[in-house]
Amino acid sequence: MANKIPRVAMREQDPAIRATNFEEVCYGYNQEEAMLEATRCLQCKNPRCVAACPVNISIPEFIAALRDGDLQRAADTIARDSSLPSVCGRVCPQETQCEGSCILGIKGEPVAIGKLERFVGDWKLEHGASVQPAAERRAGRVAVVGSGPAGLACASDLAKKGYEVKIFEALHKVGGVLVYGIPEFRLPKQRIVAREIAQVEQLGVEIETDVIVGRTLTVDSLLDEEGYDAVFIGSGAGLPRFMGIPGENLNGVVSANEFLTRANLMHAYDADYDTPIYVGRRVAVVGGGNVAMDSIRTARRLGAESTIVYRRSEKELPARAEEVHHAREEGIEFRMLTNPVEVLGDERGWVRALRCVEMELGEPDESGRRSPVAKPGSEFEIPCDVVIMALGTSPNPLIASTTAGLETSRRGCITADADGATTREGVFAGGDAVTGAATVILAMGAGRTAARAIEAYLESRNGKTPLK
Ligand SMILES: Cc1cc2nc3c(=O)[nH]c(=O)nc-3n(C[C@H](O)[C@H](O)[C@H](O)COP(=O)(O)OP(=O)(O)OC[C@H]3O[C@@H](n4cnc5c(N)ncnc54)[C@H](O)[C@@H]3O)c2cc1C
Ligand code: SF4
Repeated sequence: MANKIPRVAMREQDPAIRATNFEEVCYGYNQEEAMLEATRCLQCKNPRCVAACPVNISIPEFIAALRDGDLQRAADTIARDSSLPSVCGRVCPQETQCEGSCILGIKGEPVAIGKLERFVGDWKLEHGASVQPAAERRAGRVAVVGSGPAGLACASDLAKKGYEVKIFEALHKVGGVLVYGIPEFRLPKQRIVAREIAQVEQLGVEIETDVIVGRTLTVDSLLDEEGYDAVFIGSGAGLPRFMGIPGENLNGVVSANEFLTRANLMHAYDADYDTPIYVGRRVAVVGGGNVAMDSIRTARRLGAESTIVYRRSEKELPARAEEVHHAREEGIEFRMLTNPVEVLGDERGWVRALRCVEMELGEPDESGRRSPVAKPGSEFEIPCDVVIMALGTSPNPLIASTTAGLETSRRGCITADADGATTREGVFAGGDAVTGAATVILAMGAGRTAARAIEAYLESRNGKTPLK
């Protein structure tokens, strides 16, 4: 299936200029561009894009409203299934989800669904009708632990149904990875994240920051003393992994989490803030996912020569295709099929280089990807002053260790069924806390699924049937 209109390109900051600033890379469509792109959609009777969206947004319906110039209708259509369209339009891996299944992609370019979603979400923030709380209150108080995409999605859906919902967040800012992990140049914090969260609050969701569940309060005390009827745990997977190679305790080796938290949450890139951050002259980032791309592009913007070190080939890079493309344009060097075996230090205990081996791809492993195997005698050094480990994260054990009857997997993930019910009655969980590090939209989908299960749980206690 081809389409005569080419996909409308998105305007972006010039790579040489943006590699020196933290302003957003992509400018977004204007209304004329968005409406033109919307005309490319074939309005399929059985839209493959919807089935491939983890929250099943009615994609052809919102695109049709946009094409007709009815932006409020487009925004309302998306709002039925997503409370964070401006965020998702910017960070979802559309190429493996909605756009990856768009019928136009079989012979040509898929509809730019993510960019259209972003346009509608941004329009809503500027011009949309104000968000209203549910007209009717229902009996049931729900505590949500964590204000990332999973917690926000769960809280929004429950508030829309009329329940009393309060989010408890450990950090001083709301948004989870959206504020502490993903950099400003991909996801503006004040202009986008804070305003989409404000819309969640307009639904009636209360948010309290600086509350560490497991320390300040516990899940048990929320249920037994604070009068909550159910708890949703969306506490993410914020515990960084290291490689376990010699030299990892040298000065200059940091986790991507720490590096990005300093840069984003603590504004280290901003001259008005005192937060220290060190990049030296050359930075090497180990890993190939979104976290690795965000770290290396941040280091580049802070003035360092920057290299990605990844043990598989380009084809296996797990990062969004757009981030890899943008990183290359910004002058990031990619050392593929390369695995660090040791971090080398100088006489003062600071990093001076990464010792690596060349890899080749062998047989597929349990993930279906070909596993990398070291080439004998291929050791070499990459000179660098800072090494950032972006190897994945796992859930913090604090909540599991302080909640009676809450089981976890061997990897430390909270055990939950397909509806988000955990092994503790009245306690539900979803997002990275259950799956391990995944994506924004999967976390939102899990939050929504758990909201339905919590509703059923509360209504069965109230002796009623859940609302449609
Ligand atoms: C740098 C980076 C870049 C990424 N880029 C992308 C991308 O481009 N696209 C994409 O789809 N995904 C991306 N991801 C993954 C995505 O952000 C996560 O999968 C998603 O945020 C998970 O949502 P969550 O709500 O489960 O957890 P989180 O976003 O981690 O939120 C959990 C929240 O719970 C809070 N919390 C934790 N413990 C407690 C406690 N004990 N008490 C109270 N609060 C607590 C945390 O402070 C946090 O605010 C990226 C991740 C990172 C780190
Ligand atoms: S699959 Fe593509 S063309 Fe069909 S409805 Fe979805 S976006 Fe439109």
